[in-house]
Amino acid sequence: MIFRYYLPTRLFFGWDALKREGGYLKSLGSRLLVVMGPRSARECGLWDDLQNLGRRYGIEWIIYDRVRANPDLAAVKEGLEVAKEEKVEGVLGAGGGSPLDVAKAIALLANNSVPPENLYEGDFPNPPLPLGAIPTTAGTGSEVTPYAVFSLHHLKTKRGFAHEGCFPRVAWVDPRYTLTLSRELTIDTALDALSHAVEGYLSRRASPYSDILAREALRLWGKRREQLLEGDYTPEFRQDLLWASTLAGMVIAHTRTTVLHTLGHYLTYHKGTPHGRANGYFLAAYLEFVRPAVEARVGEILAALRLRDLLELRDFIRELLPPPPMVEQGEREKWARMALTHTHALELTARLPQYRDLLNILESSLS
Ligand code: NAP
Ligand code: ZN
Repeated sequence: MIFRYYLPTRLFFGWDALKREGGYLKSLGSRLLVVMGPRSARECGLWDDLQNLGRRYGIEWIIYDRVRANPDLAAVKEGLEVAKEEKVEGVLGAGGGSPLDVAKAIALLANNSVPPENLYEGDFPNPPLPLGAIPTTAGTGSEVTPYAVFSLHHLKTKRGFAHEGCFPRVAWVDPRYTLTLSRELTIDTALDALSHAVEGYLSRRASPYSDILAREALRLWGKRREQLLEGDYTPEFRQDLLWASTLAGMVIAHTRTTVLHTLGHYLTYHKGTPHGRANGYFLAAYLEFVRPAVEARVGEILAALRLRDLLELRDFIRELLPPPPMVEQGEREKWARMALTHTHALELTARLPQYRDLLNILESSLS
């Protein structure tokens, strides 16, 4: 048995995690850039908490709050300029995966002379600025991953960037901040966490350690599956989904994602479909495709999710989500060809897909 495990993030999980452990903000510095979206970090109470903690611990906040969903490198550039002009000592990502990912890139670039447009090719000899993360969605697990995902217009899709310096040094994970999520956002982001757990469990890079984490994430997801559909979102439900999301983030921190995410990124980039929802559309067909290679594991996933078979999973997701967007046949063919070039994700997929397989997944999921 040979495997690696590395997760350098100090994690505080639970109700009032930030209020209880806010002293750790000081480990990031006393003049901090907080990276947020335009509204939700204020609406969920997180910004109030940060202001109070700032007063208590003598931390000055510089705000960059213009991050939109599925950010591109222009958002990184804009935030980086603020970080440099204001000479911040550290960076805190506060919000969904989008602000967290922008915060990661800013922290890495602030100390290295790589322009944002060269992020993916850059060399980073210097350590990043101290980085913290506070998620307000239960989906991406970005608070414990070394990834940042951006819309890349020259490639006409999204792509993940990976660097050890993108692991947050500290993460405060408090279900309270997810209470304001709408039913739609709750479902979309929960499907992201599910796809991370599923892809990680079936990845060619799965290890005995990542398996433990993935099984627990799947178990929690299965326990809350019916409630997710019914819309009965109790505090216990929020806590379980957020923990499942962080666990699934720990899984992909080691396994990465697979071709399911590659396909999801096309739907997001070209049709504006939210990230987790896009993965959700492809989940049943993806499992159908990989099943011959990992029959027992697919069975374990279904059992953990309290489902009889893949047909029941497909019906459940159809009930959960609105109908998928229209994608012309020519576009599907183009996406299948594009996915073939994303060799990294293909090689980690339990069964190596050919063009015809990718087209089948696209066709059966989008009609
Ligand atoms: P998001 O794009 O960060 O935010 C989506 C929407 O949710 C925004 O309108 C946001 O509002 C709102 N929102 C966030 N928290 C809320 C709350 N507590 N209450 C009400 N509304 C709230 O969504 P996400 O699904 O968390 O992140 C998706 C991004 O993460 C994608 O770009 C995806 O590729 C990436 N991702 C990264 C990783 C990783 O490891 N780095 C893993 C998976 C996915 P505001 O705009 O006002 O904040
Ligand atoms: Zn994802």
